[in-house]
Amino acid sequence: MSGMKIINAGWFIDGTGGPVRKNIRLHIQNKRIVSITDSGSGDTAEYGTTDFGSSTILPCLVDSHVHLCISGTDDPVAREKQLDADFDKIKGLISDHIKRQLSYGVLAVRDGGDRFAYALRYRNESLDINKIPICIRVAGRAWYRAGRYGGLIGRPLQENHSLAEAINNDPEEKDHIKIVNSGLNSLKEFGKETLPQFGAGDLSDVVKIAAKYGRRVMVHANGKKPVAVALEAGCDSIEHGFFMGAENLKIMAEKEIVWVPTACTMKAYSEHMKPGSREAEVSRMNLDHQLEQISKARELGVTVALGTDSGSMGVHHGAAVIEELKLLITAGYSLPEAIRCASCNGARLLGIKDVGVISKDMAATFIVAKGDPSKLPDSLRSLDFICFKGNFINCKDEI
Ligand SMILES: [Zn+2]
Repeated sequence: MSGMKIINAGWFIDGTGGPVRKNIRLHIQNKRIVSITDSGSGDTAEYGTTDFGSSTILPCLVDSHVHLCISGTDDPVAREKQLDADFDKIKGLISDHIKRQLSYGVLAVRDGGDRFAYALRYRNESLDINKIPICIRVAGRAWYRAGRYGGLIGRPLQENHSLAEAINNDPEEKDHIKIVNSGLNSLKEFGKETLPQFGAGDLSDVVKIAAKYGRRVMVHANGKKPVAVALEAGCDSIEHGFFMGAENLKIMAEKEIVWVPTACTMKAYSEHMKPGSREAEVSRMNLDHQLEQISKARELGVTVALGTDSGSMGVHHGAAVIEELKLLITAGYSLPEAIRCASCNGARLLGIKDVGVISKDMAATFIVAKGDPSKLPDSLRSLDFICFKGNFINCKDEI
């Protein structure tokens, strides 16, 4: 058949969470996968065959929670500068971050907001999809209640306005709506919860307005009450969800609301705070508690999408995906299940059709990682190749 490309792989993970397959063969035509078969004997030496017999093919990854405007630096002065920099400076930083994401096999990211909507502006003005084939979904500026947490990633709701009204009148052409509905986690007092910023009624009106414009609603929420009201309102995803408790997890499973646990943020804090300090100890306890919740979520059948919160202190764009995958595995996920959180589940959450699973009739878009699956997720650090719609990008040369 003309124009057919054949690719052999030693190991294959398709993104659905099913078992790892050995020795498979992909047939690609017109940028799409036409079949996936076992690469048996007798069909060797075919014209146009590319052999990845000692590598693992897996789907391209999706990071469902990033902040493209901020790096993971732990230097407080540099962080402050980034938060106040103008767009011309931030443009270069965002380019660097998405190149890093791509070099780890991440082909889609969901941005959780920045105070000047620079990620939105970058996507609209600066992203050259032909050079860097990455899908950027942006929230623009998040919404929060004046006087509460949220100033780093958004703007406050003006007095005498309802949240739904403000969103309805907002001219920013964003992909999804980000609402901040709790505070940050305390690093001094383990398990300290904050009150919700908005009520279930406010949030339910937001969900309705968002649906009218075909947008989804992501809600930053830690603690039982802030999460409970967001679930009652029917939001699309809970971001972070530290200390939300088992009851909320059950509701998430029932209502099929996605959870993005961002556990690696607490791992990074535990490693960057002064050794032996209260902050280092509480971050570690927060992380352990979150891992217990993730384990419970797996048992209950909650859909978890991998998100790193890259841009948080010590959480680096691209590399953090490895950390978060490892934490999912520590919490009890098998490698294919963890990959599903970082591919199929993320792609669905972002509403992207051609990325997330490798199957017949899908675009031939996948990554090739050196070695067998036991080398994952660390092997994401030095990928062999990314195949984007049937064309190979050499990760070292072109990114
Ligand atoms: Zn965030």
